[in-house]
Amino acid sequence: MVYDVVIIGSGLSGLQCANLLSEEGRSVCVLDKNDRIGGMMQSFARDGVVFNTGLNYTESLGEGEVLDKYFKLFGLKGNITLKQLDLNQAELVTIGDKEFALPQGIENYKDALKKNFPTEAEGIDKYMDMLHKVCHSFPLYNLHSDTENFNTESPYVAQSASAFINSVTSNKDLQAVLGGINILYAGQQDVTALYTHALINYSFIKSSWRVKEGGSGIANVLANGVKANGGIIKRNAEVVKMLVDKGMITDIHLKSGELVRGTNVISSMHPKSLLPLMPEDALKKAYKKRILTQEDSIGMFSVYITLKKNRIKYQNYNHHYFRSNEVWTTDHGLWPQNCLMYTVYNHRTTDYANGLCIITYMKFSEVSKWADTSIENRGDDYLAFKQEKAEQLISLAERKIPGLRSDIKACYTSSPLTYRDYTGSYNGSAYGVVKDYKNPLYSIITPQTRVKNLLFTGQNLNMHGILGVSISSFLTCAHLLGDKYLYKKLLNE
Ligand SMILES: Cc1cc2nc3c(=O)[nH]c(=O)nc-3n(C[C@H](O)[C@H](O)[C@H](O)COP(=O)(O)OP(=O)(O)OC[C@H]3O[C@@H](n4cnc5c(N)ncnc54)[C@H](O)[C@@H]3O)c2cc1C
Repeated sequence: MVYDVVIIGSGLSGLQCANLLSEEGRSVCVLDKNDRIGGMMQSFARDGVVFNTGLNYTESLGEGEVLDKYFKLFGLKGNITLKQLDLNQAELVTIGDKEFALPQGIENYKDALKKNFPTEAEGIDKYMDMLHKVCHSFPLYNLHSDTENFNTESPYVAQSASAFINSVTSNKDLQAVLGGINILYAGQQDVTALYTHALINYSFIKSSWRVKEGGSGIANVLANGVKANGGIIKRNAEVVKMLVDKGMITDIHLKSGELVRGTNVISSMHPKSLLPLMPEDALKKAYKKRILTQEDSIGMFSVYITLKKNRIKYQNYNHHYFRSNEVWTTDHGLWPQNCLMYTVYNHRTTDYANGLCIITYMKFSEVSKWADTSIENRGDDYLAFKQEKAEQLISLAERKIPGLRSDIKACYTSSPLTYRDYTGSYNGSAYGVVKDYKNPLYSIITPQTRVKNLLFTGQNLNMHGILGVSISSFLTCAHLLGDKYLYKKLLNE
């Protein structure tokens, strides 16, 4: 059978595209190399505690807010259980020994900052006005029915996030607090673009939510929709080769030897990983060079802790801890320099938490000597390395959770190698292609390619994260369904 659309990858983007296209009557076949669907939306259980891979919380899901509209389009709205984080403290940012509680809601957020920094009111207003302006310069964020062309370029892709923050205040602590949730985008001082910071910060300030069913709950809702629409999802279906004839993909070869064919192909794989699967001359040399030389974001080292019963209360917020107000770098000499801590939220959460996650940055070079190994077969020295890193990270967390070690039932870890091998992310990069404000056009990857029936989607296009990926899925599907039609559907007109 020749499917209308073959989709490579069953992460958030692949499943969103499959869900929407199958609902619109296209025959779809999703291929994933893993034996479980979801990519970074996979959840896993340890000692009966369910942890998420790439979902702690998400943003702007209040009625009529931006992600709420995309979730409605992709059939997620109403089919997952949301829990809003604490209105008065969705984020706790700790800089050394100073704590700053950051609420949700634009006015609440500004008021809280002004209480902490009374002499900085003007800068705080300027900051928020700019965030609003940046976000609303993107038609696919703004979502107004009079939008003529939603691919209009925003002028804010070429501005630096940290330089902008420094321009509204010279107060070092306030600068650090404004950049305080930058683990969500691996913020770097002289790299991160203002639009990345603004879209993420502003959307989470508007409203922040956890999902009771976790990442796998999201993947399952999308996958069930695909199947109900007659679509096929194949697991253990690694794409290893694609044949191209007259500028069109003709055959998709799987590792199993199976051959799959589609009129159109959507790939949510990292474009760097996809190019080597196609014939040398399928794409222009200059394009290939640009894709293959993209820099990817740093990876993460995560500690997943199962907790003894009734020891640590569930905290309905995220705690971002920094040793100092140097928040804008992912590469400090001293490791770990910072971490994100959060108690897990799932069906079994009561007043007390059954799990705790602690996450920090880790460069791939730290684990590259085990690059040729596979899951569960990396050797004792790798296990010792992870154990040592976990101890260091727990010691950092204990500064804010005294006695944490005595509350631990068991402890599990993941390194950039784990992410690489479970989710297929390039060298375990957390968020894919880095968007450098100094060269914005270089890192912008559009869905269309010179291969006429191939489209890209996923976190490497515009922006990572649930919101960024949902927008990429929309853009990719718009190429097949018609942009005006899909935009109207998104606006529910
Ligand atoms: C530690 C961490 C925490 C995060 N937390 C949050 C959060 O709290 N909130 C938020 O909004 N975002 C978060 N993110 C980001 C978010 O999870 C991702 O941006 C998003 O899930 C990426 O979706 P995707 O579809 O682009 O990619 P993926 O989920 O990576 O999907 C790609 C899929 O392609 C498959 N694949 C790869 N190669 C092949 C092949 N050759 N053949 C077949 N299939 C293949 C993979 O198996 C995978 O399933 C987090 C990310 C990380 C790493």
